[in-house]
Amino acid sequence: MQTLRNIDELRTWRAAHAQRTVAVVPTMGALHAGHLSLIERARSEADVVVVTVFVNPIQFDDAEDLESYPQTLDDDIIACSQAGVDAIFVPPRAEMYPNGYCTFTEVVGPLSSTLCGASRPGHFRGVTTVVLKLFNLVQPQVAVFGEKDLQQALIIQRMLSDLHVPVRLVVAPTIRDIDGLPLSSRNVRLGEEGRLKALALPRGLDKANRAFADGETTSIKLVEIVYEELLVHPGVEVDYADVVQLHNFADVTEAKAGDLLAVAVFIDGVRLIDHILLGGPALAVVPEAD
Ligand code: AMP
Repeated sequence: MQTLRNIDELRTWRAAHAQRTVAVVPTMGALHAGHLSLIERARSEADVVVVTVFVNPIQFDDAEDLESYPQTLDDDIIACSQAGVDAIFVPPRAEMYPNGYCTFTEVVGPLSSTLCGASRPGHFRGVTTVVLKLFNLVQPQVAVFGEKDLQQALIIQRMLSDLHVPVRLVVAPTIRDIDGLPLSSRNVRLGEEGRLKALALPRGLDKANRAFADGETTSIKLVEIVYEELLVHPGVEVDYADVVQLHNFADVTEAKAGDLLAVAVFIDGVRLIDHILLGGPALAVVPEAD
């Protein structure tokens, strides 16, 4: 595996692979089994796989969150090499955003202004900007993203389609821990107690999904079920919990199968997101403690 530490090295590597199809997996590092599942998927989609590791400063709306974002580059390089990645691209911040940088890409409208877009102003603008820059650099045919960040994947799909970017987007399923919590680089910042509280997130979503299966379709009731599960724990703050239509993120009063129930919470200050598609399969969650 090649470790490409600047744009020149990447361009040289890409020119040497001009005849091959390339799949890219963009990440912010601190790789876990969720990222590895995207890599495996990428390997089945193209001749060669590039993983990018870049903690993108312009998608953070909170300086402290950026500073405390976990960084484990040496381990990430080993993990990628063992996973059969062909090249890992680790661009320096100053090359991605040199002095005088002032160009941004933004998907406007409900897709980016609701849910995480409402609570993290500028976040998706930062994401679409860096993803388009990475695509221009890597020149992939395929890009693999996680359903874990479903809103992000839908926004990127919109950008690719609106700007005629010739990259096929593949969305791979969320990998969860055995207790139901989606794997996330931020989970390492949860203490032991925080982790237990965090399980209320998939449990609440699963309860709401079961209520939906039993005939409860009022969105506000489904959202209440999630709140009830979460708010019994001190230190848990709900950022948002909402039912929206999947294709346009419009708010829904009466939920239908396939609508998205999405939740963001702060657990002892750590922000986590999770979602389910109503009527979809049950989540394997740990039962509530007595
Ligand atoms: P991140 O490094 O958190 O920016 O994530 C990089 C990519 O990995 C994104 O496409 C995420 O959606 C995806 N990802 C993160 N966590 C998971 C997970 N638990 N399962 C599947 N994909 C994930």
